[in-house]
Amino acid sequence: MQHMTARLIDGKALAAEVRAALRPAVTALAARGAQPGLAAIVAGDDPASRVYVRNKVRACEETGVRSELHEFPADVAERALLECVAGLNRDPAVHGILVQLPLPAHLDTERVLAAVSPAKDVDGFHVENLGALLRGAPRFVPCTPAGVLRLLDHAGVPLAGRHAVVIGRSNIVGKPLALLLLQRDATVTICHSKTARLAELARQADVLVAAAGRPRMVGAEMVKPGACVIDVGTSRTADGKLSGDVDFAAASKVAGWITPVPGGVGPMTVAMLVANTVRATELSIA
Ligand code: NAD
Repeated sequence: MQHMTARLIDGKALAAEVRAALRPAVTALAARGAQPGLAAIVAGDDPASRVYVRNKVRACEETGVRSELHEFPADVAERALLECVAGLNRDPAVHGILVQLPLPAHLDTERVLAAVSPAKDVDGFHVENLGALLRGAPRFVPCTPAGVLRLLDHAGVPLAGRHAVVIGRSNIVGKPLALLLLQRDATVTICHSKTARLAELARQADVLVAAAGRPRMVGAEMVKPGACVIDVGTSRTADGKLSGDVDFAAASKVAGWITPVPGGVGPMTVAMLVANTVRATELSIA
């Protein structure tokens, strides 16, 4: 095995840069009498969801984006949530709406996401926005995949003609990310829980993205020497620590580039949400 120490891709630092770079746009909007506004809806008391939403609200405020939090109990009626969304759709001071997932099991996630106005869908989860992404002309790119692309570009990782392997096929991470990589002329393989010979495929990747939510499932034996390894996974381990899908200590000896958890994709997701909210505001007054 080739002994190589991967370059660390620092998502925390890049996220701070992205947020700082948004300030002039926020100032320009203010000069036109528009302050970007994000409304976050959270239902239930999942501690991880609460932390994510709090981080998003804080990042907005640091960037001059107004934010409002709409909290509901775990047993909230779907109708109450839909009414909240409808009110936010109508509110001209709200430019972006996010529904923190997962929603409590009794709620129909698809129906709630479909209720968000596509023009305010800063998570990019509405079918209209996912469809636009599929066609290659996105309005709002889902935040985690958008953040991964920014990390790759910042690190100067070549994509055109390279083999990208994405582990995970969710609507919010794996599928949209695969589309973005395809749009950048990578040859993309999407792997999932039923994929046969996962390790063999992963080992062929020039860019390997792990988004399965399986702590440390990607070991050094799954990484091609010199490859770029992006770890989207965030799982809480029994000792309360955050674990990625990649065995960082082992994989960083083989990879050419690698993202840490925490401090990699997570902060970028939040920064891209702020960026999408600023863009939604610009589009609303264009
Ligand atoms: P999900 O559960 O909806 O999807 C997981 C995907 O991984 C599925 O498509 C499944 O087929 C695949 N998978 C599961 N086990 C597998 C295995 N053993 N081998 C191959 N594929 C397997 O999850 P998600 O919402 O896409 O999130 C994935 C991970 O990314 C989670 O850990 C989540 O917490 C994390 N996440 C992080 C951020 C961030 O900002 N850092 C954002 C979103 C999600």
